[in-house]
Amino acid sequence: MSVTAEWQQMMSEIQNLLVDNCAQISKYGSDMEKTELVNQMTTAMKEVCEINNSFAHQKKALHWCQNIQSEDHIDYDSEYQKKLAEIKKGKKYNVESDELFKEFKERVEDITSNEFEVEESDMNFLDPITKQTIKQPVKSQICGHVFDKDSIDSMFRGRDPYIRCPYVGCPNKLRKKDIQEDKHLTQKFERFLNTQSQR
Ligand SMILES: [Zn+2]
Repeated sequence: MSVTAEWQQMMSEIQNLLVDNCAQISKYGSDMEKTELVNQMTTAMKEVCEINNSFAHQKKALHWCQNIQSEDHIDYDSEYQKKLAEIKKGKKYNVESDELFKEFKERVEDITSNEFEVEESDMNFLDPITKQTIKQPVKSQICGHVFDKDSIDSMFRGRDPYIRCPYVGCPNKLRKKDIQEDKHLTQKFERFLNTQSQR
């Protein structure tokens, strides 16, 4: 097996390992603990992707140096450093658009959104602010609490970027970016609304 193939295999093994960790984590503990630990795994995955990216840059620069054809004496080390700097400068790396990271996030989302979910019968379909049935559910990524999109949005219209979670007894402070849509949740609410309208 080539070094590159071996490296790629190692990358996907690391990804599997971190996804497995998230799966284990999501079975135990409170939502807050789970979120915290899943965030740690996500940070680890980001770091791995960054290493993977800089490895790719180094490989490219090295390959370029190997193909230099010249009769003159060449200072390979400085050519390599120059090329590497050039490659790094040319392509701004964004981990969020790294395929390895995107795949990780999707896999973790699939696992955690199933595990974080409360049984349908225990689920609260009422918005804690308006006390009305939630029409468009969004979820706090910090504590797992669910709100209606419009009603939580209106709470963010104050000057403070943080609001306190409107669930009674929940101590978490939330920012707008902590509130996200969740496709599994939306499906669940749609099912619920359907059964309601059939009654
Ligand atoms: Zn909360």
